[in-house]
Amino acid sequence: MLHERRLPDDLAQDLDRVFRFKLRLLDWLLRSPPKALDDNALLVLQFGQPLGGWLWTRIRRPEKRTAFGKAVMALAAKALVSPAEATGVADAIAHDAEFDCNWDLAGNELFFPRLHLNWLETVRNVAEPFYDWFAGSGFLSAPFALTGGTIDRATLMKAFRPQSYGVCGYCDGTLGELGTKSEANDCDHFFPKAQWPHLAIHPRNLFSACQGCNSRWKLANTPMGSADASGLNGTYHPMLRPGASSVVVSATISPTNSRQVKINITDPIVPRRAETLVATLELDSRWTNSSNESLDRGVSVFVAKSARDKGNGWQPDADSVRLMIEDDIAWKQEQLGKEERCMRLIAVLECMRNDLLHEVIAELTI
Ligand SMILES: [Zn+2]
Repeated sequence: MLHERRLPDDLAQDLDRVFRFKLRLLDWLLRSPPKALDDNALLVLQFGQPLGGWLWTRIRRPEKRTAFGKAVMALAAKALVSPAEATGVADAIAHDAEFDCNWDLAGNELFFPRLHLNWLETVRNVAEPFYDWFAGSGFLSAPFALTGGTIDRATLMKAFRPQSYGVCGYCDGTLGELGTKSEANDCDHFFPKAQWPHLAIHPRNLFSACQGCNSRWKLANTPMGSADASGLNGTYHPMLRPGASSVVVSATISPTNSRQVKINITDPIVPRRAETLVATLELDSRWTNSSNESLDRGVSVFVAKSARDKGNGWQPDADSVRLMIEDDIAWKQEQLGKEERCMRLIAVLECMRNDLLHEVIAELTI
């Protein structure tokens, strides 16, 4: 949620074609539910060929019905029993699908499943398989008229890679080296699919993230952390509102140990956004821990290399060490989003410059 990450337009448009088809299916089942599906005729009438045919192979006739096919019929059956409610669900889903267009609108929030909790499971059983297919063999270009060939999760993760510079867009940490065990190029749902299955393949809902963010910290948390999902205006988003330009990251010396710092993350303009970021990803404690691990290896770990670069004749006095730290800060600022851990390193360097200058000098003089 910190750095800007944007799916290339051509891929986003292709994914949107599949997403819009999924929406059309949900909308049809909710507003005009079929009583039975014994062959592909109704589907072809509704969605044309080849999409009607594509759908039929995933539903199949009653005696050979797939799990997805049963889920489709279950949603239709529920809509037949409660048509007014079903229309409300369809309206909520259509509203949520445009979340990216209304991101900055104060008070804008997601309607489904919040207003229709008793429909969550029935809708999820139809909506979530689209992500499973996406993560598996993907969607072929022909039925969906895709311009870039088959689209799947691996294609998306690969497309994010060059703009990521190996840095997680959520937490400023490392994505891990390609092809290694720690590659950690996980596909994260900004709105977790368990709670918002209708958005599971929305092109503005999928991002590459480090394993820590995707599998350990974010999990099924809402982007708003533990707070209520009472407004998208209260959170950052990797494409629609990257947090890096808004948050202020600072380090303060621990009152009990002068060799330890505490990292603080705030947003002076909209404090709640930083609070929800921290609540979702636990960034303050993760960053504090990693900064202190670095400090344990020597206060001057960040500046030692610069000091060496100055050559043998250089004398570390307050003014020159301060300048050297400022050079490091300026360099790190240029690397924001391109080099891992920059935000917390800048905070620690600023703390060194302001509060630890004499300790740095003492270390450099040894
Ligand atoms: Zn991360």
